Order: sequence, then structure tokens, then C-alpha cells
Amino acid sequence: MTHHDTPDDRRDGTEQFDDLDGEADARAQREGGQIETAAIHAGQPPDEQTGAVMPPIYATSTYVQDGPGQDRGYEYSRTGNPTRTALEANLAALEGGAHGRAFASGMAAINTVLNLLEAGDHVIAGDDVYGGTYRLFREVYEDYDLSFSFVDTTDLDAVGAAVRPETALVWVETPTNPLMRINDIAALSQIAHEAGALCAVDNTFATPYLQRPLEHGADIVSHSLTKYLGGHSDVVGGALVTDDAELNERLGFYQNSVGATPDPFACFLVLRGTKTLPVRMDRHCENARTLAERLDEHPAVDRVYYPGLPEHPSHELAAEQMDDFGGMVSFELAGSLDEVSEFVSATEVFALAESLGGVESLIEQPATMTHASIPREERLAAGLTDGLVRASVGTEHVEDLWADIERALATALE
Ligand SMILES: *Cc1c(COP(=O)(O)O)cnc(C)c1O
Repeated sequence: MTHHDTPDDRRDGTEQFDDLDGEADARAQREGGQIETAAIHAGQPPDEQTGAVMPPIYATSTYVQDGPGQDRGYEYSRTGNPTRTALEANLAALEGGAHGRAFASGMAAINTVLNLLEAGDHVIAGDDVYGGTYRLFREVYEDYDLSFSFVDTTDLDAVGAAVRPETALVWVETPTNPLMRINDIAALSQIAHEAGALCAVDNTFATPYLQRPLEHGADIVSHSLTKYLGGHSDVVGGALVTDDAELNERLGFYQNSVGATPDPFACFLVLRGTKTLPVRMDRHCENARTLAERLDEHPAVDRVYYPGLPEHPSHELAAEQMDDFGGMVSFELAGSLDEVSEFVSATEVFALAESLGGVESLIEQPATMTHASIPREERLAAGLTDGLVRASVGTEHVEDLWADIERALATALE
């Protein structure tokens, strides 16, 4: 028991779960089971009254009190809702952390980490972070007098050189999007801690099934639940996980004060998703590996970006830091912008769409889609060529996926 030490802590309502299984602490639940088991059971013992195996969707805004100020752990659903409590405990267990916080979107979760900072603070972030993260940092928080250095976080010397006395946060993504760079979480956490700063890792691409940043020294893990954790392209959500009780309390203060919390139906959908995270990820990884290997051999493909390939520049780090290499594959075609546009339009099993992490395969052209807002010169300098294609490899049969790619390549490039 670590996160119910004060009466205030107990007001998040998780004590309800103590009564049911005597083990509200998400960490203890994780320790009590491997991740495949935690994914299904952590945070969600059968409903006490009915035996329902899924947590009910508590569609309520408020809760009756036994007397003034005598609530039963819940008083208002922005502050706490039992369906959300179940999700938060489940996500904390998956990441091997003690405390989870769920949000209305991945961006709302990232925003809450920034809420921890004060005017004058400095942040070091990767130069290829998610576009929405870049926009939040540059276009929102620079106006609040935070400053940001965007550096190649695979270059630890460059990160060290960017540290200033006022550095308060190092923001890391790994693998990155769309070039699948791998950042060393342990080394970056160490640089952050030596600078007296926090290290936060956006673990959306890897998921806790493949990578648990807290184990490598990170202070906060951030997620877009919209991607693999939800897994079915039917819900938008975000989360933060930490092991630190004081940080958790502060994150909870901002979660409640700002109010970007998920509704109980969204929480239910994510809980439904996380149950199958391990089996889905196994198939995502297996399919992605097969496609990466075959693309690598295909004459129309100049280069494949997949950390599971031995020639990936950070393959060894990825093998150390991750349990497998994920479901995202990028590759460069030897073709013009238009030919590559034609290729991504010609696939049929792979749907032409932004986003990622669902069971269905998606394909996109960063130059004209996800990364189109970056000026062309800057985009090319960053390695995002006109021929670059990003695929979110789904869980369909791998031979159907490969046949789709081969056919579209033949249509567009020959
Ligand atoms: C999608 C995504 C986000 C933002 O999440 P939303 O749920 O869309 O707000 C943040 N980081 C990464 C890596 C993402 O892929």
C-alpha cells in the first residue's frame, strides 16, 4: 500500500477495491500477475453486487452522501468515477507503476505534465515528437513563458548540452514517428535527474506490453489511449502513470482543476481494449516484422525503418529496452511524390488514414498527410522524404497484407 496514505488520497475512491480483494494498490496487482493476467484483471474485480465481470459504466455525475461531507469515496464525476478508477488502476498495473490518471485525450494527458511547470522553466524535447505535442509546446506554452529546446534525443551529448539551470522536464518519445528512432530511456532519465528535472516518456507507440519506461528510470509515462491501448479505433483518451505519490497528487490536482477527464463510456471502451493488448501486440509485432523483412527485399523499396531489422541503427538498444519491436513500419519508395500518393491510395486492405494502433491496418504518406504542416525544406532535412510511407500494421492475415502491398506497388510504380 503506497497510494492511500492520506485521507485525501482515499478520496479518489479506490478504497472500494480494497474491500473487494484487499489489494487496491495497482502495483501489488501487477506483481501478483504477469502482464497478460493484469491486462484482464487489474483494477476490475467482479462487481460486488451483481458479479458482473466487466466494471459497470457508472453514468452518474454525482453521488449521494451519507451526511454532509460523508461521501463513500466519490462525490462528483470530474473528480472521480468508479469506471475511471478501474481504468486508472488497470493502466497503472500495466506500466508497473503505483498510480494512474486517465484523461479525455492523449493531448490532455500531455498538457497535465506541462501544468507541473512554472513560468521560466525550460523543457528539452525530441526534435521529432508527435506533431500535436510540438504544437502544444510551441504555440500554447511558449506564451506562458516556458521555453523549449528540440534536440535529437538519440544524441546524448546534444541533450546534455541543451541542459540549462532552469531545465525542469525532458520529454521523450520512443520509438519516434515516423522514422522509428529509438531513444535510450535510462540514459535520458539520468541526464534529466542530474539536472534536477523530471523525465517523461510518451509510450504510445510501444505500449507497456513492449516497454515500461518506469523500469528504466522515467518519472512519468504518458499515453494516447486512442491508439494501441484502446486498440479498436473507437475511442479517444489519454493517461499518465507514475510511481511517485507526490507527483501523483499534483497530477490529480491538475486533472480535477482543469477537468479534461474521460467519460465512463470511454473508460469502459479502453478497459475492453486493454484486456486483449498482449494478444493484439503479439500479432501486430509478428505481422510488422514479416512485412518489414519482405519490404527490405523488394526492389521498389529504398529503405525500411523498423527497429526489429538488424540494420536499424538502434537495433541493439531497441532489443534491450523493448520486449518486441512494435507494429509500426515506415519505408521509403523509389518514386515521386505523386507515385507514392498513388501507392498509398491503391492499397485496399490497408486503409488510407492517419492515426495508428487499431486492429485494422492503416497506411499514410507523411509528406502529404501527418507531416504536411512542416515546410518542405525542413521536412526533407529531417529525413521525411516525398517517398516515405508509414504503415500501422494491423492484425489481419499477414499474407493478405503482403499481397495488398505487392499489388499496390505494381499498380503505382510500374
Ligand atoms: C496520437 C498521439 C498523441 C495524442 O493523443 P490524442 O489521443 O490524439 O490526443 C500523443 N502522442 C503520440 C505518440 C501519439 O501517437
